[in-house]
Amino acid sequence: MKYFSLNHDAPEVSFQEAVIKGLAPDKGLYFPKSINQLPKSFFDNIESLDDVSIAYEAIKQFVGDEIPQTDLKDILEDVLSFDFPVVELNDSISALELYHGPTMAFKDVGARFMARCLGYFNGQKETKENVTVLVATSGDTGGAVASGFLGVNGVEVVILYPSGKVSDIQEKQLTTLGQNITALEVEGVFDDCQAMVKRAFLDKDFHNKRKLTSANSINIARWLPQMFYYFFAYKALKHKGKDLVFSVPSGNYGNICAGMMAQKLGLPIQHFVTGTNANDVIPQYLKTGNYTTKSSVATISNAMDVGAPSNFIRIKELHDGSFELLKKNLSGYSYSDVETLEAINYLKERSDYVADPHGAIGYLALKDYLAGNRNVQGVFLETAHPIKFLPVMPNSIADKLEIPTQIKSILYLKKRSIQIHDYEQLKDYLLP
Ligand SMILES: *Cc1c(COP(=O)(O)O)cnc(C)c1O
Repeated sequence: MKYFSLNHDAPEVSFQEAVIKGLAPDKGLYFPKSINQLPKSFFDNIESLDDVSIAYEAIKQFVGDEIPQTDLKDILEDVLSFDFPVVELNDSISALELYHGPTMAFKDVGARFMARCLGYFNGQKETKENVTVLVATSGDTGGAVASGFLGVNGVEVVILYPSGKVSDIQEKQLTTLGQNITALEVEGVFDDCQAMVKRAFLDKDFHNKRKLTSANSINIARWLPQMFYYFFAYKALKHKGKDLVFSVPSGNYGNICAGMMAQKLGLPIQHFVTGTNANDVIPQYLKTGNYTTKSSVATISNAMDVGAPSNFIRIKELHDGSFELLKKNLSGYSYSDVETLEAINYLKERSDYVADPHGAIGYLALKDYLAGNRNVQGVFLETAHPIKFLPVMPNSIADKLEIPTQIKSILYLKKRSIQIHDYEQLKDYLLP
């Protein structure tokens, strides 16, 4: 499969090159040259397929012959070694829990898939060329990337995170693994980390000295495997015989955009709903037709504190650049922190369900959409385990949360980080 840049000013590349480069040289996001619908028989028989077979059918055209079938299946087997349960809250609303992986965030699947693809390509090369994955995190991405890439041959991972601005558990996930993972603790906020990473990618001093790549959802190998979730939910809910509506709590819009890709492949999804916090660029766009990015504001659902969603351009492409088509396929709502906390309490009281702040926003958006659209099957994506957002959860719920084994195992490990406060220090670290 060939990929082109959505800025249309860079050569087409293979899957492998797109994964290694991350972003095209013209700074555009890569997008597959063709998208072929899956056969009807696949959807008719989906109940008889296991997760790995479903994932393989969904992703194979995007990898092409660059990873042989058996290796690709092995990679998927390894990536998908945990569950993706659909939990029914009532007759019309279910939660799709994406947090049963090693770091308890949905980003585990994308990070693990990307890591194993890079590991595979490195293993094929005669001369080893190391790649450095450079990533800025406001909390969740860093942990998933650190865990996904741990011990992968030929890949070094450098994670920048804002000092004091991530939860204790998130910080442990970033800073305790060692081996090929280094955490840089930045005196500043997430935007400072992000700005340094962007500057490094543009800095010509790195050319021929250190090969940098990203592990954000701009990378196709992080973005595309997120389609699997929607297929899994379809399989689980098909017997209900109702049209599916997915509500996705969104920040950079990689996850929801992967759902739209699944829809392009023929998965019968009737509509998408996006829920956001105060960072409401897309709901505003859907309302007014004006796309205006802003600087991000801090909220309790901080993995979605994004003022300029990087995958929006891919969403546009999937809708042929048409605002009307997009509006037919996507509704958007935004919520305050107070409303988010109310929803967490409501879900606990009403359905004995504990949602994290991101999932709670997905739930709110779904409920608002369903109010005017009945007789569909609603699914909201629960994107992280509530334990990861303990400091902002209501006390009465936080006190009773049990710490899952994945988290317990890292709590007593020693934090190791290198403190930096500006770009020059980052550069000194990367190019000593
Ligand atoms: C990253 C993240 C999101 C947002 O996902 P996008 O693909 O960036 O839209 C939502 N919830 C949690 C918990 C996350 O970590």
